[in-house]
Amino acid sequence: MDKEYVVFKGILIEKDDAGYRASLQHIDEAQLPEGDVTVRVSHSTLNYKDGLAITGKGPVVRKFPMVPGVDLAGVVETSSHADYRPGDRVLLNGWGVGETHWGGLAQKARLNGDWLVPLPAAFSPQQAMAIGTAGYTAMLCVMALERHGVTPSAGEIVVTGAAGGVGSVAIALLSHLGYRVVAVTGRTGDADYLHGLGAAEVLDRAPFAVPGKPLGKERWAGAVDVVGGHVLANICAATRYRGVVAACGLAGGMDFPATVAPFILRGVTLAGIDSVMCPRAERLEAWRRLAMDLDLSRLGAISHEVGLGEAIALAPKLLAGQVRGRVVVDVNRV
Ligand code: NDP
Repeated sequence: MDKEYVVFKGILIEKDDAGYRASLQHIDEAQLPEGDVTVRVSHSTLNYKDGLAITGKGPVVRKFPMVPGVDLAGVVETSSHADYRPGDRVLLNGWGVGETHWGGLAQKARLNGDWLVPLPAAFSPQQAMAIGTAGYTAMLCVMALERHGVTPSAGEIVVTGAAGGVGSVAIALLSHLGYRVVAVTGRTGDADYLHGLGAAEVLDRAPFAVPGKPLGKERWAGAVDVVGGHVLANICAATRYRGVVAACGLAGGMDFPATVAPFILRGVTLAGIDSVMCPRAERLEAWRRLAMDLDLSRLGAISHEVGLGEAIALAPKLLAGQVRGRVVVDVNRV
């Protein structure tokens, strides 16, 4: 076995009498959890959930010590799983990885092969991680809009948390598919970035983030919401007859201070999106669609890359909404 990888670098989250902390450590391969595939990770990402895990600001990690990282891309090193052989390029999103099972913010991971997705030929590992869970979730939202009959001719689609990871990829996808996309953001100073991704209009989040009426003027044919709270309630209230709101996030809060009026009077559909336990067939379809419908030239603007050691310091900034787009983590660079 390659000596270099008997001990590997990874972020380790510990919780004991000394408190909750995340640090970069040398980890012995013997400590890796059970699994039928060992992956030499090349890239991971920093999602909102990873920010919560690293800082301890949300109850994401449920076993200690834990290697965070809900995403990874790399190459199979050893496998006793029928579908994977050494050298295969793979990626992984979710399944509790980085929460209950050691995740991707390390140079190695040992996993259940059923969780892996073959890396689509269209993407390098970096590109797959520039998309990551946020981008794959954005695609699940787009697929939910389509499933419920929303087409580009139906009207405008509003995307909230627009300058974040899910929001950025959702705008790029929807505009590429021909929708008129309206971005709602707390960072109106980033309007050029959002227009560059394909947003036709950029609106300030402030009026959306305060209590509104049960029903407002009908505007949105569809929505991708990552914020929750009043923002989600106000969007539902302004969704057109038979429109569809894909709700996937809680960046603005867990509550949903709404009424049933949009649902029972306008036939609005609230489509819940979960990427973590999403069935395998749907994730494969989401990645197939990403390879088809995402303009890869947008990924350069959406993402930037950091080393493994830098991810820890970036986590609180991400939670504070100070990080634009997506963060790719090169786990082999400290
Ligand atoms: P990011 O941190 O990249 O983006 C979140 C964005 O939300 C920010 O960029 C900001 O956008 C906006 N925001 C941040 N704080 C607030 C606030 N207090 N009030 C209103 N808006 C705020 O995170 P991701 O894009 O990775 O994830 C977004 C959300 O989606 C998170 O809640 C995450 O947990 C959830 N998620 C859910 C998944 C699922 O499976 N259901 C999968 C992936 C993510 P702006 O500056 O433009 O206003």
